[in-house]
Amino acid sequence: MTRAGSTHWRRVLTPRGIRVELGPFRLSRHFTDPEARLETMRHEIAHAAALLLDGERGHGPVWQRHAVLCGAHPRACTAARPAKAPKVVLACSGCGQEAWYYRPTTRVALAARLRCRKCRTVGFHVTRNAYAEATQSA
Ligand SMILES: [Zn+2]
Ligand SMILES: [Zn+2]
Repeated sequence: MTRAGSTHWRRVLTPRGIRVELGPFRLSRHFTDPEARLETMRHEIAHAAALLLDGERGHGPVWQRHAVLCGAHPRACTAARPAKAPKVVLACSGCGQEAWYYRPTTRVALAARLRCRKCRTVGFHVTRNAYAEATQSA
């Protein structure tokens, strides 16, 4: 998966408790478009804000709120997608986290009963199913 950027951080133990310390943002050099780079910066700043102010990781509602404040699009990091498109895409009903599948596994059939590893919500819905599309058009 190609990442446009990332936020690095670590926990530092101080006499007054645990402090989160941010490292430098990393911007992928594959994204040369100035607007895309700016968008990535806004995205990472939103991560930094969510982390420092709310102790939140990931792309949940807290991050999305900071993303809007930063002027970034409240969506996950991946600006570019891998060349090979997944056959089936499931999305978490809670946080929208996507799960990609290249084969129609039993997990796909049990989507409604899957628990999200990020937000713990139970229930994914199918946003893309190449197999179903193939069946319908046949
Ligand atoms: Zn992100
Ligand atoms: Zn979720």
